[in-house]
Parts: sequence; structure tokens; C-alpha cells
Amino acid sequence: MESVDRVLTLGDLDQLTLPAVPLAVLGDPIEHSLSPAMHNAALAALAEEDPVFADWHYFRVRVAVNHLECSVARLFALGFKGLNLTLPHKIEAFDLVTAVEPAVAAMGAVNTLLATELGYRGTNTDGWGIARAVERAFDRRLGEGPVVLCGAGGAARAVAVQALNDGVRDLWLGNRGEQNLTRLLQQLTDAGHDLSGVRPFLFDAPPVDVPDDALLINATSAGLRADDALPFSPDFLGPEGAILDTTYGTPNAWRRWAAERGVPYADGLLMLVYQGQRSLELWTGREVPTEVMLNAAQNALAARSVS
Ligand code: NDP
Repeated sequence: MESVDRVLTLGDLDQLTLPAVPLAVLGDPIEHSLSPAMHNAALAALAEEDPVFADWHYFRVRVAVNHLECSVARLFALGFKGLNLTLPHKIEAFDLVTAVEPAVAAMGAVNTLLATELGYRGTNTDGWGIARAVERAFDRRLGEGPVVLCGAGGAARAVAVQALNDGVRDLWLGNRGEQNLTRLLQQLTDAGHDLSGVRPFLFDAPPVDVPDDALLINATSAGLRADDALPFSPDFLGPEGAILDTTYGTPNAWRRWAAERGVPYADGLLMLVYQGQRSLELWTGREVPTEVMLNAAQNALAARSVS
């Protein structure tokens, strides 16, 4: 289908012959999204087992920040069975859905919508994605040992809720600015989480009592560019610890620091793949092959870096 390779607008959808089951990711910008490659590769694999999936297709649609509500309504009317939301729509979409999965309501954001008779039901698979990524990359559970979570934005909130749901006992929660850190702590309290094991800090005063086997999760935007400085030096980490970076595709300062210190490191591609896999499983009701999605994401990323 030719349209998968280009970014669509809502207007383009009127000219398009839609497949039996259309899916899409909405965002702005959206041209660099790896999701269409991942999802369409997985749908092709599912179609080999069951031909019904041959007429499913995943599009990318550019939706500007002020147009989310009318776009979601339009896509529902057009019969889109599932939607993913990426920047900047995850928080606004939370207020547009008819219902939210209770386990993820505290995340205050949704990245996956599933059509029901009444409208879209919302859920958030980012927390699932990070938990599976930690297991695969480091053979440990997210809730198992000490965690240092860096960041207080949307991604950090999803990770914090997942870690608390998974039973983490010692959670250091750090951010650059005090305002967003305070807001995140308040949101977690309002959502009913027990914060007795949570120790907040600011990056200009990093903690000194973190065990060397802690898992550090970078959920800040520091690391999106190769020349971004580390927000602080995590000198407490040793080779028994680990760094899970939510950014991906960039040889950044976190990766370099981990390589120099012999600390295991994984970037955010696995998280992206697992959150996508979970979304597709919710839409299809089938088990979706992880490796097909991972290979497609790696190939799309490689193609992006040479283009
Ligand atoms: P937000 O804009 O909501 O939050 C950004 C966070 O980064 C804030 O805590 C902010 O601190 C901090 N920050 C920004 N710049 C710096 C800097 N130079 N130094 C230190 N801290 C900084 O973004 P999101 O939470 O949505 O996204 C955060 C990261 O997570 C992004 O890199 C994104 O790509 C990644 N992500 C990856 C996913 C995946 O599947 N792999 C899924 C979702 C997100 P302050 O509050 O002080 O401004």
C-alpha cells in the first residue's frame, strides 16, 4: 500500500481506500515514527497464519496539537479500530476517551485507543514496554531492586506508576527542575500510591546512598542528541547496576558513560517495541511476534540514519 510510506493528514484519508481494519499513530511531528514499520511487519507475519490480517493496515497521521479532539472523532467515524498517540497528544487524549484501563489511570496519559461501540477505550502500554525491556535487557524485574528514575515528564510518570505497581521498594526520583518533580510526587500521591519508599532529588544534588546495583532509568530528554551533557554523573553505579535509557538511536553521553564504567546499558528501542507489541495484541487479540517488530524497528532506524 503506497500510503504507508508517507505522512497522511486527515484530508488525505478522504481520498484513500481504507483497508478492512485501519490503525494509525497520531502525532506531530510524525515523519520519524518507527511504528508503521513495526506494526505492518507484525501484521504481515500474522497474515501468514490467518489471512484476515492481510486487510489490516497501520498508517501515520500528522495531527496538530489543537486538532486532536476532532481528529479522534473523525478516525472513529472512519472505522479506525486502534490508534496510538505520541508527542504531543498522550495527555490530552486521556480526557477524550470513553473509559481508561484502571491499572494505568494514574499515568494520566494514554498511548493506545481501542474502538468500542461507544467510542475509544484508552490504555497506556509505555509502562508495560519499560518493564519488558528491563527484563529482556538485564534479566531483572523492574520492581525487584533499587531504581533511580530520572525525569518528571510524561514518560517518567508512566515509568513511576509501573515501578510502584510492580512493587519497587526503593525508588529515587530525580529531576532537573523542582516544579515538575513536586507535581509528579503530588500526582502519584493523588493516585493513591504509597510513597514511603520514594526519595526525591534534584540533579544538582544527586543522592549519595544509592546501592551500586541500582537500575537507573533515563526518562529525560537529555540524551536525544549525541552532544547532550549528562544531567549528573551517576558515580554510585557499578557493573552490577544498569542503565535503561528511554531515548534511542543516538550514541549519547549515557551510553558512553556506561561503556567507560562497564555498566550494562540498553537504549529505548526495546521499550518502543514492547509498547507497540502490547498495543497490537490488544487490537488483534493475538500473540504478536516480538522479533518481527524489533527487526522492523531496527531496519527502519538504520534506514533513517542513512537518509
Ligand atoms: P516531557 O517533555 O514530558 O519531559 C521531559 C523531561 O526531561 C523533564 O523531566 C525535563 O526536566 C527533562 N529534561 C529536558 N531537558 C533536560 C536536560 N537538558 N537536562 C536534564 N533534564 C532535562 O517528555 P517525555 O516525558 O514525553 O519524554 C522524555 C523522554 O522519554 C524523551 O527522550 C522521549 O523520547 C522518551 N520516550 C521514549 C519512549 C520509548 O518508547 N522509548 C516512549 C516515551 C518517551 P524539567 O522538568 O526540569 O523540564
